[in-house]
Amino acid sequence: MFGDGGEVSLTMKYMNRFGCIGAACEENCCMDGWRIDVDRAHYDKLMAMAQFSAKPIARKFNATFIIVPKKNKKEPERYIIKQFEGGGCSLFDDGWCELHATFGYETLPHVCAFYPRKLKYVGETVELSATGSCPEVTRQIILHEDGVDLEPIDFSRVHRKVLQDGLDPRDTRPFFRTFIEVRGFVMELLREESLAWDERQFLMLWFSKRTTEVLSKAVPKADLSPVAREMELLRNPKVRHEITKRYAELQTPAALVLMVVRAIVRPKTKGIVRPKWNELTNGVINSYTRLAEMLPQSEDPAEHDRQAEASLREPQHMTTIEVWAEYRRRRDRIRAIPEVARTIDRCFKNYSIHTWFHRMPTEENDIITYTLRTLTQQSAMKFLLYSQVGLQDAVSELEAAAPEEREAVLAKVLDTVEKATVNVFYQIARHVEHGLLIKWLAEMLRKMEMFSAAGGVYLIHF
Ligand code: SF4
Repeated sequence: MFGDGGEVSLTMKYMNRFGCIGAACEENCCMDGWRIDVDRAHYDKLMAMAQFSAKPIARKFNATFIIVPKKNKKEPERYIIKQFEGGGCSLFDDGWCELHATFGYETLPHVCAFYPRKLKYVGETVELSATGSCPEVTRQIILHEDGVDLEPIDFSRVHRKVLQDGLDPRDTRPFFRTFIEVRGFVMELLREESLAWDERQFLMLWFSKRTTEVLSKAVPKADLSPVAREMELLRNPKVRHEITKRYAELQTPAALVLMVVRAIVRPKTKGIVRPKWNELTNGVINSYTRLAEMLPQSEDPAEHDRQAEASLREPQHMTTIEVWAEYRRRRDRIRAIPEVARTIDRCFKNYSIHTWFHRMPTEENDIITYTLRTLTQQSAMKFLLYSQVGLQDAVSELEAAAPEEREAVLAKVLDTVEKATVNVFYQIARHVEHGLLIKWLAEMLRKMEMFSAAGGVYLIHF
């Protein structure tokens, strides 16, 4: 039976520590405007329970669930929960769930009971992970050095079995057959403390570029020896050194900064209010003089894309170069404090390792696309993090501290940095990773001929 100890299971330490913090959460997932689909079994159960309840409860619950008629014969009808105007579950009440409070945990639809978790079979192994769009998950992933260490699932914390897409062991395409070994190799590379964080990413990129001809969904059969050879080569410190040396020289073009910011400000869904996201992104954008006027102005995603694409053909503004220079100045100033740089690198390292575990590379067409998309997401994270005026102020405070105060001020700065990083990471996961923005950004990079290994290097240097 599932979770009775007879199953081979795998998770990361952050998952065995995670628990929803409910009313203490800075941005409850229930209020984010996501469509909340109710599975048929829970819909039927809830309707039956509502019928036998007191009139006000019955009325309330009957009015809460919307039936979406089937579009064609093949599709079933769907059941969704009504939203507040501007987005948010209409059963959410001051940090608590009315459904949970009225009828108990068992009646929660799967999506409510299981978010942010993801349970999947990878071959014979059952794996548990969670999306970083939940701030508490992100905290558990990035704030503890051992957050992404692998270990068996603590089933006493998993109250439902809701399986999502996993890896079918019958798929014999090389990309699928080598998945576990390749993922293990990349995670090992990303953990390699003898290398700087950027160097580890160069090697990941190099490996993806060199193996993508084999590690692609389009390839039904292939000789796997080139993949094994690349892994062996990259375990050799001399080879690693040679490769990372080649990448160190490449300079990121200024135009990339504008592309990244355009993806960040791209509207998501009409009518959904995103106060935390707006506060974060407007705060950063307005801190760069004249950046706002260089961005597409439309609220309509299609019009935004048209304006952004048209601007690709415009001559480069002097201000793009100024923004790029200012961004680098802020980033380098923050990273000049070794303790801060180490903390930020640990956050990125843990998040990347978690991503390789949580999102299977086979979700993309090939390994290089997967790698470039993770690097693209990280460039947006870096921009929103390093640009923050609050971090610059914290650095100024540290610079002004007397030697005897330094330790205490540094502890405060590190705390500020960690909080800012959690804020940026979970919001990017929620508003960018969950949506189509990363895909859009990848498309833009393709048009600029940067969706390539060289483009990957620029993203790492970003
Ligand atoms: S975002 Fe995470 S911590 Fe916050 S309410 Fe949702 S599951 Fe709980």
